[in-house]
Amino acid sequence: MKTYLLITMFGAMMAGFSDNAAQAADAKPIRTLIVGGGTHHDFEKWFNQADTATLKATGRAEVNYTENIHSILPAIGQLDVLYLSNNKPMTNAAVRKAIFDFADKGHGLLLVHPAVWYNWNDWPEYNRTFVSGGSRGHDRYGEFEVTVDNAEHPIMAGVPKTFRITDELYYAQKDAQGPPIQVLATGRNLTNGKTYPVVWITQHPKARIVCITLGHDGKAHEHPAFKTLLQNSLKWAAEK
Ligand SMILES: [Zn+2]
Repeated sequence: MKTYLLITMFGAMMAGFSDNAAQAADAKPIRTLIVGGGTHHDFEKWFNQADTATLKATGRAEVNYTENIHSILPAIGQLDVLYLSNNKPMTNAAVRKAIFDFADKGHGLLLVHPAVWYNWNDWPEYNRTFVSGGSRGHDRYGEFEVTVDNAEHPIMAGVPKTFRITDELYYAQKDAQGPPIQVLATGRNLTNGKTYPVVWITQHPKARIVCITLGHDGKAHEHPAFKTLLQNSLKWAAEK
């Protein structure tokens, strides 16, 4: 009798919980893992400390940071968004497969600056599927102009139509054999006028994937437009 009562009470409690969970779906935390590490960048300062603070300012992000590629595997099952910024080797086959499985389940990928470079010659599927291209060069670090191409897109909400930033303008190139991309913002070299996509969405049958070439150092990570982009991208990537 006692046991039955307890089970009944437990059942009622659980039903209550799932009702609450359904009502609070909008406010559900966005469980995020930032992966940094590699060369040429102060990953700890900008991709961990600065970006973690930026993402947490949304009031929705639960953020962890790692530079240990192998720690992706035990964490990925509990994530909504995987934010890659690392350019260190990604040779663990199980980790590679886990990232593809994560995308196939319809989760979010946020690929920023070093992660949209062609880093991994032994893993061409990464660039083709997630970035639909990549970069093999960039302008010398300096000021350039960014123009929003699609102001109606939620990722561009609150981002100025045009802004200047001191960063590396990546020579981002579309892979002709990769999936279509939707360019949301374009960077322009102020001297020679050459333009390159700086923010785009890579079409994927299931996942929401945002690629951002900006982010070399604090001039980007502390730039209000970059912060807004990052926050919007996280929320959008988590929504599928
Ligand atoms: Zn850089």
